[in-house]
Amino acid sequence: MHYRKDKYGRDLSILGYGCMRFTRNGGSIDLPKAEKELMKAYESGVNYFDTAYIYSGSEDALGRIVEKNGIRDKINIATKLPQYLITGKSAIDRYFNEQLSRLRTDYVDYYLMHMLTDIAMWEKLKALGIEDWIKEKKASGQIRSLGFSYHGNTENFIKILDDYDWDFCQIQYNYLDEMTQAGREGLHAAAKKGIPVIIMEPLRGGKLVNMLPKHAYEMISANERGWSPAEWGLRWLYNQPEVTVVLSGMNSEEMVEENCRIASEVEPGELQDKDLAFIDEIRQEIRSKEKVGCTGCRYCMPCPQGVDIPATFRCYNAMYTESKADGRKQFFQTVALTKEPAFASQCIECGKCEKHCPQSIPIREKLKEADKALRPFHYKITIGVARKFMFRKASK
Ligand code: SF4
Ligand code: SF4
Repeated sequence: MHYRKDKYGRDLSILGYGCMRFTRNGGSIDLPKAEKELMKAYESGVNYFDTAYIYSGSEDALGRIVEKNGIRDKINIATKLPQYLITGKSAIDRYFNEQLSRLRTDYVDYYLMHMLTDIAMWEKLKALGIEDWIKEKKASGQIRSLGFSYHGNTENFIKILDDYDWDFCQIQYNYLDEMTQAGREGLHAAAKKGIPVIIMEPLRGGKLVNMLPKHAYEMISANERGWSPAEWGLRWLYNQPEVTVVLSGMNSEEMVEENCRIASEVEPGELQDKDLAFIDEIRQEIRSKEKVGCTGCRYCMPCPQGVDIPATFRCYNAMYTESKADGRKQFFQTVALTKEPAFASQCIECGKCEKHCPQSIPIREKLKEADKALRPFHYKITIGVARKFMFRKASK
């Protein structure tokens, strides 16, 4: 197992265990199976275990396995404050104490503000006094490192990054999301500040393994490297020294073995030009199923009406390269829940964006098409309710 350093020089295994995807038996987690897989990873050197308050049963299962095997002081536990559920200051302590009790521990190594999508969410927490709360928890040793997990656009990611002295952060990143969400730009901005970056969705929730176009599978099987689709995705990440830990939701012993083997072999910068060109070909193959040939370059931005053009097209495309539900889910996370509305319906057809698009995309026309697909009537209602909930005023 290879290790990279956190902000304070502590060794973190480059493979992290994502505890969200433990196997379920009916409604509950199959604890003996999860224990076997988790301990296999631990014995292979994994020392970073990621969970969250809202991953049903996950904190409790992790706490039980760690306690039973007596490994608490040998591993790092990362969990997350469900900040979107918080309306008052007292709730912060309530959730945190409940998490400690579920995890059967009296401290959390890496604690994250869960799922920030906009600087406004962090501002809301600051208004509730979260900075003083963090200071107290760090002074008491109940929290060792403080970070945030992020789904949103690059711009908001940089704003949040610059607004606080974070110890680490967690972003969605993989070879399809290089130019979206925090993206490569966000990854490099964090690394430049010395902030370790934990990667989630390294294989787009398994889609870079299970839902590749047929021709992409054939290309991968024919490649001389002999790597599996998962291995290509993981090696692309480990190749970048700015990546600290890659989380994988492992739920079979074979998966643990494969992931641990890869994390023991890789070195940053080892991929050759021909490997990177090959990944580019795979990416093109996936993109050939897209509805709009947008590369995410952002030359069309900013739109004076606040429309997030590249994000809208990315989610529209995901409806066809992944699934309708996935595209809409991504839209919900990255466009619908930003404080300043960024919907395509705000477009007044000024045409400014089209003058800058190197792909000559008829942006105005395509935005209408995308909006219709991404926001059918019932989604508009759901989004309206969610926005009211997320951006309601907090009480002290
Ligand atoms: S045409 Fe629409 S999307 Fe493009 S810049 Fe003008 S308002 Fe924005
Ligand atoms: S300029 Fe064109 S290709 Fe680039 S992000 Fe905008 S729409 Fe996409």
